[in-house]
Amino acid sequence: MAIRWVVKCGTGVLTRPNGQLDSAQITRLTGQIAALVRRGDQVVLVTSGAVGAGMRTMALDRRPTRVSELQACATVGQPQLMLEYHRRFRRHGLQPAQFLLTYWDLDSRTCYRNAQATIEHLLSLRAYVPVINENDAIAADEIRVGDNDRLSAHVAVMVRASRLVILSNVDGLLDKANGGAVIPEVRRIDDRLRALASGTQSQLSVGGMVTKLLAAEIAAEAGIETWVANGRRPGILLDVARGKGPGTRFRLPRSKEKGSHVR
Ligand code: GLU
Repeated sequence: MAIRWVVKCGTGVLTRPNGQLDSAQITRLTGQIAALVRRGDQVVLVTSGAVGAGMRTMALDRRPTRVSELQACATVGQPQLMLEYHRRFRRHGLQPAQFLLTYWDLDSRTCYRNAQATIEHLLSLRAYVPVINENDAIAADEIRVGDNDRLSAHVAVMVRASRLVILSNVDGLLDKANGGAVIPEVRRIDDRLRALASGTQSQLSVGGMVTKLLAAEIAAEAGIETWVANGRRPGILLDVARGKGPGTRFRLPRSKEKGSHVR
């Protein structure tokens, strides 16, 4: 059965340790997305990497902390990121379609519905992959979602996806008490689980496992199955499609409370 996916790629999955975009990795991921589209699935991609790509071009060895520097860095990196996606998807007869969103767009009924309709139309054409990032150039303070894990969950709700896959550099949620083994399935997020999730230390990445749990909770509210998996593992999306890991699959009960701000 064909399904609708939202795939989120973190900066660590798309860039090398020196911050440069990892073309080989982008080739592998876009190849897998194309394979899903070929079999009839629909895929929306939420991508990080703009700041990482901009850092490299601007020769910055640390992620900027001043908002204007960070925003400038994203504006330099975003077109490079899209160029990479364009080159790779083209080999499969697909084209990326760029969306840059802020919290405001998700919170405005008009913007939300317009984005929803545009994505719906693009997916119906079967030749385009909507590629979404936060509009870092203008998103600061209260109009920021803040991290792409939560953005991807809001997007999954918006496009009525059946599956959200968050790809990072780790195999899933790791059980520190059990030699760091991947927890294959989570049915409830409680304090014990939150304690297992720790923030990332990387100069390039943003959220860590904490924001992935928040994303899984947002998605669960809409009945969307969420996976956290390692985007560097060959064929990971195709494995997830077969219900395999390694990865953590969140199958949370649908929450009755309306906690999400999106319309
Ligand atoms: N929007 C940021 C970027 O493209 C990343 C935010 C995140 O990774 O959560 O670099």
